[in-house]
Amino acid sequence: MNKNSGQRLFKIEGINQSILIGDANTQTYDGVEKALEFLNRQTRNEGNIIVLSGEIQSPSSESYKRISGLLKKYKPIKIIGIGDIKNAAEHFSSHDAEFYASAEAFTKSIADIDFSRKNILVKVDQSLGFQAIIERFEEKAHETELEIDLAKVSFNLKAIREMLKPTTEIMVMVKAFAYGNGSYDISRLLQDEGVEYLAVAYADAGFELRNNGITIPIMVLNPEIRSYRAMIRYNLEPQIFSFRTLKAFLESVNESGATHPYPIHIKINTGMNRLGFNRDEITELGEFLSASPQLEVRAAFTHLAASNDPAMDEMTHKQIAEFEAASTELKNILKKDFKRHVLNSGGIFRYPEAQFEMVRLGLSLYGAAPADEFKAKLKPVSRLTTRITQIRHVKPGETVGYNPKRIFDREAKIAVLAIGYADGLPRSLGHGAGTVWVHNKLAPFVGSICMDMCMVDVSEIDCAEGDEVEIFGDNQDIYAFAKQMQTIPYEVMTNISHRVKRVYLSA
Ligand SMILES: *Cc1c(COP(=O)(O)O)cnc(C)c1O
Repeated sequence: MNKNSGQRLFKIEGINQSILIGDANTQTYDGVEKALEFLNRQTRNEGNIIVLSGEIQSPSSESYKRISGLLKKYKPIKIIGIGDIKNAAEHFSSHDAEFYASAEAFTKSIADIDFSRKNILVKVDQSLGFQAIIERFEEKAHETELEIDLAKVSFNLKAIREMLKPTTEIMVMVKAFAYGNGSYDISRLLQDEGVEYLAVAYADAGFELRNNGITIPIMVLNPEIRSYRAMIRYNLEPQIFSFRTLKAFLESVNESGATHPYPIHIKINTGMNRLGFNRDEITELGEFLSASPQLEVRAAFTHLAASNDPAMDEMTHKQIAEFEAASTELKNILKKDFKRHVLNSGGIFRYPEAQFEMVRLGLSLYGAAPADEFKAKLKPVSRLTTRITQIRHVKPGETVGYNPKRIFDREAKIAVLAIGYADGLPRSLGHGAGTVWVHNKLAPFVGSICMDMCMVDVSEIDCAEGDEVEIFGDNQDIYAFAKQMQTIPYEVMTNISHRVKRVYLSA
């Protein structure tokens, strides 16, 4: 766990498909309540287990009684008390409660308790063995972590809402595992924050969200025809971009026996030339839809090809005008109103006049924006860190790693890090092309990036085995890192592999 964990309420994946929530803050009634709230948002498991220590501020019989009452609301299937809390056991008699003198005594008997698919809250004081309990439950002991600060996600959402007209709705694109940040955790936050729509790339991502308690409307950007029936069962709304997909979806709706018009989203191509109906197909589209009352056009939209680029403003203005004309024609034929949207993150900042009734937010939710003046309004939400596994000293004449290109002509101190290309650290950064941040200095990669490890030159840096290293975050920002990779922050985020542990700091 890195430096923030424990000081903030956090969530990670636990063993046996459990969800682990940790909090080593001083135990106050409000703190326990906040932790329970966060626990309660993890809807996908089969019951709550609460591990609690007795360090409630100025412990009194009365405070335990209040805590016990609070716990009832969350219906834990088990309470595990660590330390002095056992003196207040009488207050927990209506729960299934077990008490242990210490974290050590508890971790020794963990094997006897069924934690599988449970939500586990560990609210134990640092001095009573918080860390030992967390380590016992953690699934990914791998030391590379992507820390995602949900409070900053909320901050960015609010900052963006304030830039929009009060009536403009927001659809958040949670495709690609919410840009690598975690579909469920991000979607749950957005649902709680009152976002109007979510969008996923493929239907299966939508099924997963529905199975985990996400109930707000979800659009599917690129639904495959064979997934249409399941989509209707899961109440997912397709983007319709061609007559082929329109006719196939209508057929699936007819077969489903749906009694209400099914919502669909019409994609109009205005210059991106990816998916969408062209302007000259709108008349025929309108006529087809008019004759298909089983379908209801919920929205029509288009996608800008270069919303972040001032040099392309002329093209963008043309796209917006073309969309306005095409969507108006469609409305006139249907004689019905629907929502319209055009803007992605770049567009939200650069073309506020084109927000229509909705915008489609992606990247900027995570704190990235197309220009420095916009970045200043947002907070980057994530940090990718790892640790030094070993430090070694190489002598002149030696080399480092696979197929070395460089023979050292001096002594060097090399740190081996627990991250490699299988984690999403591209091989192209090897041989000095990229850097990491170690104790306030940049350290260049040495030799090739390996599958699970890499090496950096720390000759000039005072550091030790076990120390934290930042790949990107507060010190080396994601733009600087993306530049080294010769790519954009989108690719950096979505490249971080699933095996990297996600640590969520609570809002
Ligand atoms: C991904 C996507 C967006 C979001 O773009 P950002 O630049 O990340 O805000 C919007 N619209 C469509 C169609 C997309 O595919």
